[in-house]
Amino acid sequence: MAASLVFRLQDRGPELVREVLLERGWEEYDVKEREEEDWNLYWRSTAFRSSEYHNLLPWQRLNHHPKTAGITRKDCLARNLRRMRATVGSSLYDFSPTTFILPNDYTRLLAEYNKLRLTRGPLIYWICKPVDLSRGRGIFIFQDMKHFVYDCSVIVQRYISNPLLISGYKFDLRIYVCVKSFHPLTVYIHQEGLVRFATEKYSLSSLNNPYSHLTNTSINKFGPFYKTEKEQVGPGCKWTMSKFRHFLNSQDVNERLLWQRISNIVTLTLLTIAPSVPSCPNCVELFGFDILIDVKFKPWLLEVNYSPALTLDCPADIMVKKGLISDLIDLMNYTMIDSLRQRAYQGQRYKQPCFNANQPVLPKKKETKFQKQRNRNQSSQTQTLPLLKTLRKPEMNQSQHAFVSNYHRHLPPVELNKIYAARGRIINTTATKIQTDQTLNLILGSHSRTNVSAVNRQTRPALAPWRIDNRSLHVSEVTNHDGTETEAEMELSGETDVSSSIHDISQRGQGLRRPAGSWKLPNIHSGNHRPVRTSMGRTTALNGHHIPPLRVGDFIRTFPFNTATLRASQSHKLDVKIVIQQLHRLTGQLATSDVEVKENKDVGEDFDSLLWGPRDPPLLSQCLKPT
Ligand code: ADP
Repeated sequence: MAASLVFRLQDRGPELVREVLLERGWEEYDVKEREEEDWNLYWRSTAFRSSEYHNLLPWQRLNHHPKTAGITRKDCLARNLRRMRATVGSSLYDFSPTTFILPNDYTRLLAEYNKLRLTRGPLIYWICKPVDLSRGRGIFIFQDMKHFVYDCSVIVQRYISNPLLISGYKFDLRIYVCVKSFHPLTVYIHQEGLVRFATEKYSLSSLNNPYSHLTNTSINKFGPFYKTEKEQVGPGCKWTMSKFRHFLNSQDVNERLLWQRISNIVTLTLLTIAPSVPSCPNCVELFGFDILIDVKFKPWLLEVNYSPALTLDCPADIMVKKGLISDLIDLMNYTMIDSLRQRAYQGQRYKQPCFNANQPVLPKKKETKFQKQRNRNQSSQTQTLPLLKTLRKPEMNQSQHAFVSNYHRHLPPVELNKIYAARGRIINTTATKIQTDQTLNLILGSHSRTNVSAVNRQTRPALAPWRIDNRSLHVSEVTNHDGTETEAEMELSGETDVSSSIHDISQRGQGLRRPAGSWKLPNIHSGNHRPVRTSMGRTTALNGHHIPPLRVGDFIRTFPFNTATLRASQSHKLDVKIVIQQLHRLTGQLATSDVEVKENKDVGEDFDSLLWGPRDPPLLSQCLKPT
């Protein structure tokens, strides 16, 4: 019988990921039982080291792309959005409240503050947030500069003081975004998500009440009214996005336009870093976008979360997060990886490295004394376990490195058409072309995220701690690779020192037995889990460009969304200008309120997309008037 797929978790968490994968028949990686490379998915809440990207084998996936701190750190996000505003225009990038990065921008903040006081009076509010904290810690709101004191790197932002309220309660949206690839940019947004409520009624006369102004669950679950049945909101502090859709239906709002604007925020934010993220085809990333909607139904981006929390605190979490992770695994499409691996083994091609002088070769790493010793110990085993051993990168010689590089680059795209009938739909999985990772190797270098091991606990007191039941919410801080702290890190354990769990990956599984047949991976779809679904079987290639599936589970492809953006993303360099033009055009068309979804309209195009957001997402071509 074929061996199971294997997952590997950092610090044995998140529990939800384990649960979903075990349910699907995966096995958990055990350092005592398995070889170092004997896994298919490695999930970490903190960043991977550059060596982990370098040493990635064709069948392995990581849950983070390299170098995404440009949007997940509050100050970097502000800087990148500012840069885009300067290059492509402020009208498009007007979805983020005016932000100042302190201490550098202190003079500019003062100038803006004074200007607004003169022109608008004192009813302007500001929010101060430490750049490297999450979960609402260290945040405070102020109206008068004399109440503004800070002692660490912070951002100060215009406070959106007119949020849309439900029965008087403030809320924000947690949108789950999967970047399947940065090169070409391929983005999916999950249909489900969470609505996170403050647990006390919104009031500008109590700026220091966190339960009224902050929507973080980590704060509100300690609030005195958390369990209380609140008017319309109910008990707790979360809704599913489906429930929010019901609410929107009861309002006179152009729902379609709202969703499209949120989708635009996601794309425009990702565009700020997409050209600078190294290509790493075996990585995916799940971001948590926090969106606040104001009374005019304008969505605002508050922040982007790296490793969004996957704890199950309430029924809404269970409804949303389990399906989310399951769909994410489907999106990774392990079936294809299996077939690639099997072909490589069956063909024995690994024995004949096909060196291509035109392709950059992975630099040979200097072996440590420890690795040399290990190589000597393992040389005899290499003959009996040919593939796995031959592909062990730390032991590879120059030509073997060349083979692995070429393996990534030259395997032909595989077309899998597995048709399933589920939930009354025709299901079609499409294959993904394996992308090259040349840039990864060139760009990562020694300056990439290697300092996970530098995870450190800082004990500096955060600003203006919100005190709850005489306890401070400020637990010890744990910072990750880029100085930010992930929600997931904190949920693992507020008191756990992550650094203790970070070992040199190359030292894992030394000299241990590899279970026989572990490379014969089963078809992932043979388990009793939800199969990959797309809404219809359409062409998977257009003029040589690969078209990613429209939909996988509840993940809707939001980028590329038409032929022009497909071309713009798959050309040598992402053409940001074209993407922006197309977003403008689409949003303009959807804004026309008389646009009706046309049933059974013959699309007549090779490429189409679904409108993310509505419960039964229509095709974009069904929503748009012919041009
Ligand atoms: P954290 O990473 O600490 O969660 P956020 O930027 O998400 O920081 O802010 C925490 C909460 O504060 C948000 O969920 C939201 O309720 C509130 N908030 C943050 N920024 C603003 C803003 N500019 N206007 C209004 N509310 C905000």
